[in-house]
Amino acid sequence: MSIFRCPFCSTSIKAPDGIEGQLVDCPACNQAIEVPQRKITEADRAIAASKIIVTTTGFIENRQTEKYVGIVSAEVVYGANVLRDFMATTRDFVGGRVPQYETVVRDARQEAIQILREKAARLEADALLGLSVDCEVLGQQNGMLMITALATAVKLTEKIPNQSA
Ligand SMILES: [Zn+2]
Repeated sequence: MSIFRCPFCSTSIKAPDGIEGQLVDCPACNQAIEVPQRKITEADRAIAASKIIVTTTGFIENRQTEKYVGIVSAEVVYGANVLRDFMATTRDFVGGRVPQYETVVRDARQEAIQILREKAARLEADALLGLSVDCEVLGQQNGMLMITALATAVKLTEKIPNQSA
């Protein structure tokens, strides 16, 4: 449902979803008015992005791909010195895991995937297939970290009843 004002008499009118762009009579002044398109808010976008299914596989279990929308990509560059700073703070480090480094990579990867989700939502896709994420160290003194993420945005057919997906 959306709420808008009649351009003639300024009465507040409630319109159900799905009649955007149609002409209706204003209940107050009887003028024919067009129901405005619903504004897509940042919150709507965020919800749509969170619903995108993301997988490294080329298909979704029990769901059919209806349409290939296109390839979406994201590049996240972590500013100069992020790795150098990290090196400076971990000089005594000998072998094994490097928690700070792992955190930086994980954050960058999540950010890249989030960008992909938002792009897919904007394209009205339902899922991202074949996700691949690459990590590259670049820049002077290897001070920068670049994460690139790539996936195919697809629209899925409606859920088939009696099958859970
Ligand atoms: Zn009116």
